[in-house]
Amino acid sequence: MPVKQIQNYIGGQLVDPQSGNWLPNFEPATGEIYSEVPDSNAQDITHAVDAAQSAMAAWSQCGIDQRAEILHRVADLIDQNREELVAIESRDNGKTETLARMIDIPRCSKNIRFFANLAMGLASESHSMPDAINYTLRRPLGIVTCISPWNLPLYLFTWKIAPALAAGNCVIGKPSEVTPMSAHRLSELCIEAGLPEGVLNIVHGSGAVTGDALLNEPRISAVSFTGSTQTGKHIASVVSPQFKKLSLELGGKNPNLIFADCNYEAMMETTLRSSFANQGQICLCGSRILIERSLYPKFRDEFVQRAQQVKVGDPQDTDSILGAVVSQPHYDKILKCIELAKNEGGKILCGGGPARVDGRCANGWFIQPTVIEGLPNDCQTNQQEIFGPVVTLQPFDTDDEALQLANDTAYGLSATIWTQDVSRANTMADRLNCGVVWVNCWLIRDLRTPFGGYKQSGVGREGGLEAMRFFTETKNVCIKY
Ligand code: NDP
Repeated sequence: MPVKQIQNYIGGQLVDPQSGNWLPNFEPATGEIYSEVPDSNAQDITHAVDAAQSAMAAWSQCGIDQRAEILHRVADLIDQNREELVAIESRDNGKTETLARMIDIPRCSKNIRFFANLAMGLASESHSMPDAINYTLRRPLGIVTCISPWNLPLYLFTWKIAPALAAGNCVIGKPSEVTPMSAHRLSELCIEAGLPEGVLNIVHGSGAVTGDALLNEPRISAVSFTGSTQTGKHIASVVSPQFKKLSLELGGKNPNLIFADCNYEAMMETTLRSSFANQGQICLCGSRILIERSLYPKFRDEFVQRAQQVKVGDPQDTDSILGAVVSQPHYDKILKCIELAKNEGGKILCGGGPARVDGRCANGWFIQPTVIEGLPNDCQTNQQEIFGPVVTLQPFDTDDEALQLANDTAYGLSATIWTQDVSRANTMADRLNCGVVWVNCWLIRDLRTPFGGYKQSGVGREGGLEAMRFFTETKNVCIKY
């Protein structure tokens, strides 16, 4: 059966890549090619930027209510096509349909509505002087690019394009070539919603070719990127000398700090999720679990027993808790990391290799939930992001030691603290070097809050007003009375 070829969305039309070349796209659960993605190059980017330039004046100058109305129409169509998008996202990424239905797809329409509404409510600042008044305008930047990763494909893509569009910019979006299908479906929904031609353009292709052409296009004035720290470094080195605005949301090696006085059952249930949700492929997953020594044996034994019961299976099955990891290279990378952990002296308490799933998924990329103990914090396993269903356990004796272990990493995205002691929770939250701290919970997200990381986890913040600030330029006007 011929595989489906998807197209770029440029100037309001679905178009083939100018090279006439496509890249293979695999279904992680079966390991088979099931679609082809445009292998776009600099010519496609030029075409997209031309289209955005033609759309810019009308989009940036139309009323905010008009922009918001169109964005709400896109959000409505996402909701109306929710089940189809769930199936698309699950098949393309390997995540379970259950997760896509609960988290990914509902969040896409929520992202768009949230930023459409936020733009409607934005107020200008004003500073009064005895003899003059200042007011500060926020103006769209112009043409911006949003480059998103494969782990939460449409969720993170809409998280970026929604504030950019609501603020009045025209956007060139590049989803990961590994998971392009939901963004392609979004292109069709934008056409159906009547989004004016050229306001949003979605160009598919590899990071090395399509992504690089975007970074070097002089008419693009800002780059909003989510992905690995390694790619982020490269992007910063290319973009910074061009003085484009840059937002980087990068990797993490997040600690969970578990104290003996925690609410044990809530902690256990949530720690299983924060370890293995989406096969551990969420930048906010807690991959280093630090446990107060008096609780360590009880926690370890029960955590391992419950991790062994987590069902890895066909993403379409409602009883599968974990699906497939996203690609063969990523599968190989995770297995290599597990081997490295063994070589570093780690003891594999459960998992430690591929998970067998029979039937149509026999050749898919499935990995068992893996728990490792006995490694020092400074080994590679505890310092490098694995981004798979793999966690390490380490005991600690004092609050200071817990904090020292938690902060001893090049990353600083998020941390989770489990304790009933309010003063300890506050002190720890204050002293942790990371951008997001959860106390007695994980992944509760209020879209108004700032989101981003310290150190090598990123530069800048997304979310709420932070995102609207990133996607606008301020201009102060001073009028003398
Ligand atoms: P990558 O850095 O490999 O890719 C991210 C995006 O950048 C993809 O669209 C990719 O395209 C593109 N890209 C790759 N090379 C270039 C380049 N030279 N120029 C421009 N664009 C390029 O990350 P992954 O997709 O592997 O995502 C996983 C990573 O993302 C993890 O490290 C994770 O922690 C991080 N992440 C961070 C989040 C945060 O909010 N801090 C949230 C989610 C994930 P292509 O894939 O087509 O090559």
